[in-house]
Amino acid sequence: MSTDRDGKKLVRSPSGLRMLPENRAHCSPFSLEEPQWVPDKECQRCMHCESKFDFITRKHHCRRCGKCFCDKCCSKKVPLPRMCFVDPVRQCGECSVVSQKEMEFYDRQLKVLMNGATFCISQVSSEKSETFVCRLSNNHRYLFLDGENHYEIEVSRISAVQILTEGFTPGEKDIHTYTSLLESQCITEGGNSRAIGMLLQYKSQGSEELKQMKFTTSEDFNSNKKMSASWLAAMHKAAKLLYEARDQ
Ligand SMILES: [Zn+2]
Ligand SMILES: [Zn+2]
Repeated sequence: MSTDRDGKKLVRSPSGLRMLPENRAHCSPFSLEEPQWVPDKECQRCMHCESKFDFITRKHHCRRCGKCFCDKCCSKKVPLPRMCFVDPVRQCGECSVVSQKEMEFYDRQLKVLMNGATFCISQVSSEKSETFVCRLSNNHRYLFLDGENHYEIEVSRISAVQILTEGFTPGEKDIHTYTSLLESQCITEGGNSRAIGMLLQYKSQGSEELKQMKFTTSEDFNSNKKMSASWLAAMHKAAKLLYEARDQ
């Protein structure tokens, strides 16, 4: 095992090499646990095409779902950053499609979130609003808000994200959990339902009290408005992945 400067270590699992934080509590909130592999002895046939396993048709486990397949049905090697694999790993057809879609999040949206964007931010309970640059920390674990003051919101303590779109003004009762709110709207960058804000519900560190913050793209920052809309669209995708990661 070797350690790099960020307190990560290289761990070898039956599925491949993984780069994990020294402290498990410091895992990215987007990360998923490795699945239990279906035991070899419980598996006589490929779980997709039902070919019988023998000396020629060998068993392979999908690294994402842990099910057992023949080589033909589990031949794709696809990056799986959510399980912290260093190299692309073997996955079944169904899982490789999901992982490929997630790569887009890692290649694009995650970078948008870490680059940050400008918002007017207010506590829902107060009228006062301030301008902040909001960005996701490099380890994905915090939202940093930088304005006259610096605030940190722990991503794992966000309980609901609601993206506000043009022509839609929600009241307090419109705050839902991830599932309901994420299925209700389709946010696309520059699409016809353009994101103009976000309601965030979270618990601050060391407190059980639920807080709400409202983010809006500010009229005063016209040049940044597109960036802010992209940031919100990226946050919408991030919330979906967070919901999946917690739902395990
Ligand atoms: Zn098969
Ligand atoms: Zn699979």
